Amino acid sequence: MTTGSPEISFEFFPPKTAEGIARLEATSRELAAIAPRFFSVTFGAGGSTRDRTSETVIDIQRVSGIETAPHISCISSTQENIREMLAGYVARGIRHLVALRGDMPSGMVEAGEFRYANELVSFIRTTTGDHFHIEVAAYPEYHPQASTPDRDLANFKRKVEAGASSAITQYFYNADAYFSFIERCRRVGMEIPVVPGIMPITNYHQLVRFSDACGAEIPRWIRKRLEAYGEDMESIRAFGEEVVTRLCERLLAHGAPGLHFYTLNRAAPALAIWRNLGLQKQDSATG
Ligand SMILES: Cc1cc2nc3c(=O)[nH]c(=O)nc-3n(C[C@H](O)[C@H](O)[C@H](O)COP(=O)(O)OP(=O)(O)OC[C@H]3O[C@@H](n4cnc5c(N)ncnc54)[C@H](O)[C@@H]3O)c2cc1C
Repeated sequence: MTTGSPEISFEFFPPKTAEGIARLEATSRELAAIAPRFFSVTFGAGGSTRDRTSETVIDIQRVSGIETAPHISCISSTQENIREMLAGYVARGIRHLVALRGDMPSGMVEAGEFRYANELVSFIRTTTGDHFHIEVAAYPEYHPQASTPDRDLANFKRKVEAGASSAITQYFYNADAYFSFIERCRRVGMEIPVVPGIMPITNYHQLVRFSDACGAEIPRWIRKRLEAYGEDMESIRAFGEEVVTRLCERLLAHGAPGLHFYTLNRAAPALAIWRNLGLQKQDSATG
């Protein structure tokens, strides 16, 4: 059974249009009703959504009243860019960041002054001390570019030693990958909370595209069932909801400290899972 009150958070991407902004504002209001621990807003490497991330964070925080954390990636940035961005966030009262390396935008070959996320975390701690709660990324099924699981784990540890406060994982559908990863982290002395990233399943083709890009595995039995539904979106939704609810139940029952939902800016799929889990509003659960 679930014990304690798991910390729930939701991730958004910065919308490009006025209509997208209005839709995300509505989504954030709807999700704010369950009083999540925080929202986060992704960041496009190479500057494509750099300003939109910051604007979206401020807007969503204002509209929803929920603490909102910008993602910040360093792969094509200079120290000066990052310093400026951090100063902007400090000035706006932001205290929570998701710090990433990011991926090189297509067509770009040169990395900036940072090569890996541990260097970004160190830089944030050196320039802003303990101001920020820093989340970093973790990969229970291992990062696609990692040469070996051991090296990937050692590289994750570098981020923790550089000052990460907690971690959010890449999404996965195999709970054992998460449990095994956590066991390995604890064995090498990493005690920070590692919150599973949860991707609700609503669209098979989109899920395959994302998973191919980020190296997340869709187990064969799930793939086969989804494939068989063809264009029957209602059956895909219902099956996806059941599978992901069961995954979350297992994760929480075995000690996951929370759940971080990749929402793709939609409230309904994550809320349905939250309801199925019988979780409490965060404030009533802790109060
Ligand atoms: C929760 C979450 C949120 C995300 N949000 C965004 C976002 O907003 N924007 C975005 O562009 N991307 C985002 N991503 C994707 C992420 O940027 C990519 O997965 C990227 O490829 C790796 O980023 P990282 O911070 O994990 O990198 P790192 O921790 O730097 O790891 C990247 C690779 O390098 C290796 N490595 C790390 N450190 C070293 C070292 N010191 N020496 C040698 N090798 C090393 C690692 O083993 C790994 O293979 C997100 C991912 C997650 C899980």
